[in-house]
Amino acid sequence: MENLDVVIVGAGPAGLFAALELAERSHLKVLIVDKGDEPTKRVCPEQNYRGCTKCSPCNVLCGVGGAGTLSSGRLNLRPDIGGDLITLLGDEDKAWRLVKEVDETFLKYGCPEKIYDPTSKEIEELERKSAAVGVKFISIPQREIGTDNAPKVIQNFMEDLEAKGVKFLLRRKVLHIDKGVVKLSNGDVINCKYVLVAPGRSGQDWLAEEAKRLGIPTRHEPIDIGVRVEVPAIVMEPITSISRDPKFHIYTEKYDDFVRTFCVNHRGFVCLEVYDGNLVGVNGHCMANYQSQNTNFAFLVKIALTEPLEDTSLFGRTIATQTTILGGGRPILQRLGDLENGRRSTWGRIEHGTVKPTLKTVTPGDIAMAMPHRIITDIIEGLYKLDKVIPGVASSSTLLYAPEVKFSANRIHTNKDLETPVENIFVAGDGAGLSRGIVIAAATGIIAARGILKKEGIYA
Ligand SMILES: Cc1cc2nc3c(=O)[nH]c(=O)nc-3n(C[C@H](O)[C@H](O)[C@H](O)COP(=O)(O)OP(=O)(O)OC[C@H]3O[C@@H](n4cnc5c(N)ncnc54)[C@H](O)[C@@H]3O)c2cc1C
Repeated sequence: MENLDVVIVGAGPAGLFAALELAERSHLKVLIVDKGDEPTKRVCPEQNYRGCTKCSPCNVLCGVGGAGTLSSGRLNLRPDIGGDLITLLGDEDKAWRLVKEVDETFLKYGCPEKIYDPTSKEIEELERKSAAVGVKFISIPQREIGTDNAPKVIQNFMEDLEAKGVKFLLRRKVLHIDKGVVKLSNGDVINCKYVLVAPGRSGQDWLAEEAKRLGIPTRHEPIDIGVRVEVPAIVMEPITSISRDPKFHIYTEKYDDFVRTFCVNHRGFVCLEVYDGNLVGVNGHCMANYQSQNTNFAFLVKIALTEPLEDTSLFGRTIATQTTILGGGRPILQRLGDLENGRRSTWGRIEHGTVKPTLKTVTPGDIAMAMPHRIITDIIEGLYKLDKVIPGVASSSTLLYAPEVKFSANRIHTNKDLETPVENIFVAGDGAGLSRGIVIAAATGIIAARGILKKEGIYA
């Protein structure tokens, strides 16, 4: 292989935006290595079922465009959603400018221009209603690439990068990284000046292992654990008609814990997710041309741990294990009313209710047997607060699926240019614990690329 300047590991948003930045501002020779496929070849036989074993590597998570190319591709256009760009850059204006840059690039490659942005009057009303009951409504301008559009947008991105001289090496897994060296699992060795590692969630454990081997410090980040809530779509409609994916932040009275809504799917479906090969969990999605009568959203409690157990992933896996065992290998489904009354849900009780579950491969049961009392208390208290903003959310028929776990990658130690203590090895995106969404992942790719350009004397 010709002499390379930069090898980027991972063709997700972080890797693609890093490559674009390098290609547009320099003549550096850039190669992107990804273990997955081209965007148009990525097909999930189970329809966005992360963790099924029909493709290896998983087509939902791996390939050009990264995790979420097969998703609705919702762009949250704020620097503090999906990561914390303001802290990372130490400058709020710069952070907003970077978000704008990312947005403009997606528009250039074909993201629909329609923006979901509540009017100031709508925001003010929702903020007032929420604040009155101790809930914070976060207003976010959003665009939606759309399940149908996402592969085409990413294909346009890839073709433009190739036209600008960036090379792609696909269906190749990186085994080890070292200063100036990238070793592939087929035994090939690539030499380069800089390595930029952006392996996303599917590569977070691998990156943590590599960091350990290279002596790069890491720290555990908080984890989000909770349930997927499903209610009749008409209950959420007054909110979802204003904000596509409304974010409500709540601090609970008893424990002062942080609880939030996440990934709202208007007229969507709850789906299965498999963590670590055999632990079951839930998630949600919605489709453009096929709708349900329900809206679902994740309701998550943030958990940070200190000594003696700092490993939040281990804690999350323990809860997922307990729930999987109790549910006989399936997620547990319970009506809110049954949870409050301390009794197990049964199919009979669920059928009496007004919400018909969109996910049937579940076990009606008692979530309180599987999750810590503190999480259950936070969820019930949080839902009652939310009910004051969205009446009907805490009805006794409201369905709760458990567990929903959002594992966090270990945060890799870096300087502000995202260079690790090993010289010329940079990191970006979700896999390095720097982001949790498309826009911020992309922004961290740009920051890391600028770090390389600075070292080359190209960017001040
Ligand atoms: C189904 C789904 C829906 C989502 N929907 C949204 C949404 O609507 N809005 C939003 O903001 N976020 C969404 N997300 C999250 C979003 O996709 C991620 O935050 C974002 O993609 C992270 O970007 P990244 O570049 O850091 O990593 P990724 O996108 O995960 O990309 C990493 C890439 O690295 C490759 N890789 C990993 N390890 C190796 C290795 N050892 N060798 C070679 N290649 C490797 C992988 O194949 C992958 O292609 C969704 C995620 C999923 C799974």
